[in-house]
Amino acid sequence: MKVRFILGDQLNIRHSWFTKPESDVVYLMIELKQEQVYVMHHIQKIMAFFSAMRNFADSLTKGGHQVKYLKINDPENKGSLEDILAVQLKKHKANIFEYLLPDEYRLDEQLKKFCSTLKIKSSAYDTEHFLSKREDLKKFFSGKKMRLMENFYRDMRKRLNILMESDGPTGGQWNFDHENRKPYDKKVPLPTINIKHKNLSQLKAEIDQANIRYFGNVEEQQFRWVTSREECLEELKEFLTERLMHFGTYEDAMIEEHTLLFHSKLSFALNCKLISPTEVVGSTLRYWEKNKEQINIAQVEGFIRQVIGWREYIRGIYWEYMPGYKSLNHLNCTRSLPRWFWDGNTKMNCMKNCLSNSLDNAYAHHIQRLMVIGNFSLLAGLHPDEVDDWYLGVYADAIEWVQLPNTRGMSQYADGGIVGTKPYVASANYISKMSDYCKNCEYNAKEKIGEKACPFNSLYWNFYETHRDKFEKNPRIGMVYNLWKKMKADDKLAILDRAHYLLENIEQL
Ligand code: FAD
Ligand code: SF4
Repeated sequence: MKVRFILGDQLNIRHSWFTKPESDVVYLMIELKQEQVYVMHHIQKIMAFFSAMRNFADSLTKGGHQVKYLKINDPENKGSLEDILAVQLKKHKANIFEYLLPDEYRLDEQLKKFCSTLKIKSSAYDTEHFLSKREDLKKFFSGKKMRLMENFYRDMRKRLNILMESDGPTGGQWNFDHENRKPYDKKVPLPTINIKHKNLSQLKAEIDQANIRYFGNVEEQQFRWVTSREECLEELKEFLTERLMHFGTYEDAMIEEHTLLFHSKLSFALNCKLISPTEVVGSTLRYWEKNKEQINIAQVEGFIRQVIGWREYIRGIYWEYMPGYKSLNHLNCTRSLPRWFWDGNTKMNCMKNCLSNSLDNAYAHHIQRLMVIGNFSLLAGLHPDEVDDWYLGVYADAIEWVQLPNTRGMSQYADGGIVGTKPYVASANYISKMSDYCKNCEYNAKEKIGEKACPFNSLYWNFYETHRDKFEKNPRIGMVYNLWKKMKADDKLAILDRAHYLLENIEQL
């Protein structure tokens, strides 16, 4: 008998393993306790994974496959992963053990080690999900100093023949970023979200019974994550018909009234492989082909860049730099996360909104993650280990291969500039331009000093002053130091004083 092990983020029903049922194959799926406790997770993330796994196991069974599914409280789901696998292999009289290559370094090592102890044959298979191999990025940038996403993305476009004409990129340019990233315009109707309410209270009760520690909120009668293939396809369709037409333009916008705006919310479905990037990109291009009058290329290119560019690039960075990447701390940041990261209880309205969105929905869109929460974390010098744990726990789509380079690299610059050529920090000016948060804030976005001055302003200058040795010579940042130099000495001192005061009283912000 062959036992094939499927992890919770390997739910690819189109995998060649499942082409037809085989009488000598049993598929093993386990709601592993170790995966729920290596970091404390948001309750919705745990529920989303278990629900998606259960739906996937049902589809396999309906397709005639033999499935052994161990729920979290199953008496056979006891002990370490290795113990459970050993018992199941024996039980099924297995002479072959097969598994799909994990996307996380930790699990990859664990399964390799487990196989090395086995007396039966074992092999690992590709998940047939990604558009590039683990090592492709490393090969592509071999011998080069910079790892610019844009270069990798253009190569992907050419290699996959996506948005390409015989004479070059569709629309005459590779990137329409300069047409995107506008603040939200009230004249544009907000998309209605066809929220999928699901009652998963039974599942929640099982998680509680298993004594798993979690955080975050869930309205049990209204669970909103898509966890079956049918729901994913519906979510994709809704994005294409309701939101794609403004995706790029308002990609970076943030408003209190609508947390999602025109984003796809497909990351969880993609990351647990319920849906593939090929399907997402293919459907997007087909939909665009039929609706070119309503949707311009800037929206489509902007979206496709995220899926075939950023997503694959981030994965390549992970596999090139792990395991060392996980402990990089280029700026030597040491401060602990303030308590209000766990309840959103802060006077800073931008942080309050973005944290609450994350804690209520296990979701925040890219700019909320990068330019609000990540921006504050970097300006405040929070320890990247703690920042990583928070991001890895809070978002339903957070799996280490994608969370880590985004958080430690792009957002916290702890990798010293592998992912980003300069730190993503900004003062209130950016947040006030891209959102409506500042209007309802107790702080004043325009002030740098004084009790009501926005913390982002003094922390911004303090950040550059603190890390002068690392950034002064960076040609992309030189202008910041020129501006600082032109300020009066007294003003500079007052700004730095205010920043130090804020950092000492971070819990009260
Ligand atoms: P959309 O804006 O609709 O984008 C479409 C798709 O493109 C996403 O679903 C996602 O699959 C992909 N994508 C876009 N940007 C990125 C990126 N930078 N890296 C990888 N894929 C990308 N994404 C995760 O999937 N998991 C994470 O744990 C995660 N952590 C992040 C942490 C930080 C600090 C930052 C700045 C970004 C992080 N991202 C992460 C990337 C991005 O923010 C999310 O993919 C996105 O917000 C998910 O929402 P969406 O599906 O509506 O995305
Ligand atoms: Fe955030 Fe400052 Fe604006 Fe308040 S004033 S919302 S703290 S940027």
